[in-house]
Amino acid sequence: FNKIKEGLKKTRDAVIGQIDSMLKSFTKIDDELFEELEELLVMGDVGVPTAEKICEELKKKVKKEGIKNPNEIHRLLEETVSDMLRGGEELDLSTTPSIILVIGVNGVGKTTTIGKLANHLTKQGKKVILAAGDTFRAAAIEQLEIWADRSHCEIIKQNEGSDPAAVIYDAISAAKARHADVIICDTAGRLHNKKPLMDELAKINRIIDRELPDASKEKLLVLDATTGQNAVNQAEQFSLATGITGIVLTKLDGTAKGGVVLAIKEGLGIPVKYIGVGEQIDDLQPFDAEDFAKALFA
Ligand code: GDP
Repeated sequence: FNKIKEGLKKTRDAVIGQIDSMLKSFTKIDDELFEELEELLVMGDVGVPTAEKICEELKKKVKKEGIKNPNEIHRLLEETVSDMLRGGEELDLSTTPSIILVIGVNGVGKTTTIGKLANHLTKQGKKVILAAGDTFRAAAIEQLEIWADRSHCEIIKQNEGSDPAAVIYDAISAAKARHADVIICDTAGRLHNKKPLMDELAKINRIIDRELPDASKEKLLVLDATTGQNAVNQAEQFSLATGITGIVLTKLDGTAKGGVVLAIKEGLGIPVKYIGVGEQIDDLQPFDAEDFAKALFA
């Protein structure tokens, strides 16, 4: 919990701090208060529709509970945010093997996330195999090897330039032969040629569906929280193009834009499953709505 709290410090100071001082400046709860609150939430990267929805919820609660003191909005806000963020946080890894396809544009922290996730699952006693599916960059394969070493799991790779779907096919075969629990697949993240990237992901998905028809499948999109609204746009684009089951939001430690979690979950209906709160191997946390809200408003 302290890690999340530390990670959310910037968001808490910038966004929640402002909300608290705004609430203090009011002597009663009225429309003007909600207007100012909505504005601050939008500035905090929550997104307009979600900010509106939060204020509607708050108005209902204020009426129902007969609340008069503006400072009590802080508590109601925490409750509302926690409720909005709840649901769908856990990965479905119920089959052996299960497969996690990790997608996202370069630089968002995809490789690091795969390494941290591999470590997290290995520590739970799961046998993990990594698939070096970003064959576009030699450096991506090398980096993933380093993470495989650190997290003590096997990596399946081919040379730079080879077919990513073939690498993933190999990883699935290896997982079946060695009774691995989870296959985590890296994918390329070059955004400048979007169509080929989406075609590549479609081909990978076809291989996975063919080779593992009954397996639990997760498609995790990695997003960089520091990019704010841009991250929300990426989530929208990827979910339209290829379908995703969840988000990993990285670099929450370096940003005041923690509000994007709400924009993604409430605004787009995609659950956040993990958050990255630092560069080290242990700096990945399963997303917990209640803890997140608590840390945000602490
Ligand atoms: P990729 O291109 O998407 O594979 O990105 P990398 O995994 O290479 O990460 C890009 C940079 O972001 C690296 O310097 C990472 O250490 C850093 N990074 C990744 N996740 C986090 C995080 O949660 N917090 C912070 N502060 N840095 C991160």
